[in-house]
Amino acid sequence: MRIVLVGPPGAGKGTQANLLAKTLSIPHISTGDLFRANISQGTPLGVEAKSYMDQGQLVPDEVTIGMAKDRLLQSDTAGGFLLDGFPRNLAQAKALDEFLTEQGIAVDGVLDLEVPEDEVVKRIAGRRICRNNGAHVFHVVYNPPAVEGVCDECGGELYQRSDDTEESVRTRLEVYHTETEPIIDYYVQQQLVTTIPALGKVDEVTQRAVDALKK
Ligand code: ADP
Repeated sequence: MRIVLVGPPGAGKGTQANLLAKTLSIPHISTGDLFRANISQGTPLGVEAKSYMDQGQLVPDEVTIGMAKDRLLQSDTAGGFLLDGFPRNLAQAKALDEFLTEQGIAVDGVLDLEVPEDEVVKRIAGRRICRNNGAHVFHVVYNPPAVEGVCDECGGELYQRSDDTEESVRTRLEVYHTETEPIIDYYVQQQLVTTIPALGKVDEVTQRAVDALKK
């Protein structure tokens, strides 16, 4: 299955993508995680991406689309993939479609995680991420690790993302409304979208997502 996950920052895309990818045995591809890996390795791509990310702006399309395509060309995507955070605007959605069409494949489904805006802000403020693996995501209140500051899954150190500040979150929400929401309509026209409420326990949301994808 080739799936695209959309939803505002803090909707739980990363958490759900991590669980869904395991359930469906397909790779979880997060452009945010790819950028953060580049930042921690100090690559030129990481240096360029960081300033945009910290301000809550999108990294320019030339950089993002190239990076996403490189990742999608790796052999582990042959049986499908779960895209998290890409595409994030119409230009990226069209570039993805073209790229997949060239290979005779297409997106099979789009999962839209719906969550109220005040909830998003609470989730992001308490979010903690593992240094070893950005897909290991916790929340100090809603999903705390067994030991404070330590990842349950791999023992890595938990930290707060530098773009999880109130100002950056406000910008990210604005960018989501103006740039990313239009891709939902784009995919609705292709009859690919299922919207699921992303409120409730983490595994309840995962179950809703799995049920939605079975249809
Ligand atoms: P969230 O969805 O919680 O805001 P992500 O980890 O998906 O977090 O993304 C963090 C930041 O990385 C974004 O605010 C943006 O700066 C950058 N980014 C991630 N994916 C893309 C993309 N497809 N296009 C442009 N920028 C991106």
